[in-house]
Amino acid sequence: MENCLFCKIVADQIPSDKVFENGELLVFKDIFPAAPVHLLIVPKRHIATLSNCTGSDTELLGRMLALVPVLAEQQGCDVKVDAGGNQYGGFKTLINSGPDGGQEVYHLHIHVIGGPKPWNGKNI
Ligand code: AMP
Ligand code: ZN
Repeated sequence: MENCLFCKIVADQIPSDKVFENGELLVFKDIFPAAPVHLLIVPKRHIATLSNCTGSDTELLGRMLALVPVLAEQQGCDVKVDAGGNQYGGFKTLINSGPDGGQEVYHLHIHVIGGPKPWNGKNI
């Protein structure tokens, strides 16, 4: 879509730090990272917001979410268990939708935010 920042990134008209790409999805690093790992998963097809999604987007949304643990492992922020059985690591998964949801770029995206602390995940 014309004048959509993420469509321009998908089309390589604007550079991005890509970490994954296939036929339908692109993942790149957020330009203003809120944590050591901050990725954005976007569909290559323009969808303005999660609020516009319907049942026909179920498979796409499922594939976007299923990519999260793959990326988290690649980035080293997956949830792990230490020798004592305690979990550590991890990440936040966030979709901002609309003005009241804090969405700034109107092209559907999932934030994956994590990595070693300190960072204040509560304010994201
Ligand atoms: P949201 O508020 O959920 O719409 O998030 C939009 C995100 O896009 C923000 O976290 C921005 O830092 C990020 N962003 C804006 N421009 C770029 C860009 N050119 N490359 C990568 N990330 C960007
Ligand atoms: Zn777009």
